[in-house]
Amino acid sequence: MNLAELGEFGLIERIRKAAPGHPGLRLGIGDDCAVSCLHPGEELLTTTDLLIEGVHFRRDWTDLYRLGRKCVAVNVSDLAAMGGEPRLLFLGLGLPAQLRVADCEALLAGVLDAAAAYGAALAGGDTCRSPGPLLLSVTAQGAVPTGEAVLRSGARPGDDLYVSGTLGDSALALRELLAGRPLDAHLAARHHDPPARAALGQALRHSRAATAMIDLSDGLLADLGHLLAASKIGAVVETGQLPLSRVFAAAGATDPTVLDLALKGGEDYELLFTAPPARAADLALLADAAGVPLTRIGRITPPEDGLAVKDRNGRLLATRAAGFDHFRTGT
Ligand code: ADP
Ligand code: MG
Repeated sequence: MNLAELGEFGLIERIRKAAPGHPGLRLGIGDDCAVSCLHPGEELLTTTDLLIEGVHFRRDWTDLYRLGRKCVAVNVSDLAAMGGEPRLLFLGLGLPAQLRVADCEALLAGVLDAAAAYGAALAGGDTCRSPGPLLLSVTAQGAVPTGEAVLRSGARPGDDLYVSGTLGDSALALRELLAGRPLDAHLAARHHDPPARAALGQALRHSRAATAMIDLSDGLLADLGHLLAASKIGAVVETGQLPLSRVFAAAGATDPTVLDLALKGGEDYELLFTAPPARAADLALLADAAGVPLTRIGRITPPEDGLAVKDRNGRLLATRAAGFDHFRTGT
């Protein structure tokens, strides 16, 4: 069966039946709006991200289950970057009428599995026919205690610069896919099914160690550039300190151009944050508890110093913070 046979409301009914409730959700799918409540002393975070076939993903490279998981994770990553607890998700779907219902259900299963993993509930959305590409728009809502969201703007000269996980794997995967080479399991997982650092982001907020934070979607240097601009500061990045996976380091050993992907490649969905040096020991404990490595990759400097990238010998590299820009990069 395809969607032309099932129809919009048949599909929405299936989504409604499959979506579990949530303690803060009074009314979910089925009315004109979702009705939810916040606890006193909380602020609401809301973020949205769009994934378009041919721009963000290719159907011949990924399956719809993992795509469903990824469209949730990229939004939860934005909540994590402010230290938010994920709560509700809204799912906008633009679907070709010929899409098989089984594929829709795989997509939905991915969305619901990821939502459950992050403690969020699917509370609504919209469903339309697309004349061409598949389109997914997720809006995620989360909560933080009032005044405690970790902003991009709080970094101070003297802070250390940290990143979670490893860098460049997703961009390396994309490069392999474009070259027509098969992906090993690690790269495939990092590119098609990246985890959002939701628990880590909340732990960093709760510890009050992070002075500023952003998630890495456009590439380390580009996203660091956003943090520097918001905080009105400079930074030194030491490329010798960048955390690399075994697979990535092995690829970099035979092809030095790979290393650039750790600086400029997109879709890492790791957290980049700043913290005073006095909090280093707390961060080590927090990384252990979260099960995600944290690596110091540089430090924050006065604004007039700008962004400096140094190689392992301390030599300054000429770099531009060129990350992904939808209207300037590619086709
Ligand atoms: P309206 O015409 O008022 O926008 P719809 O008929 O589009 O209502 O949607 C009916 C209900 O189904 C709403 O609660 C809406 O949030 C929900 N809904 C529609 N599409 C989706 C979707 N893709 N995922 C989750 N909920 C959806
Ligand atoms: Mg509608």
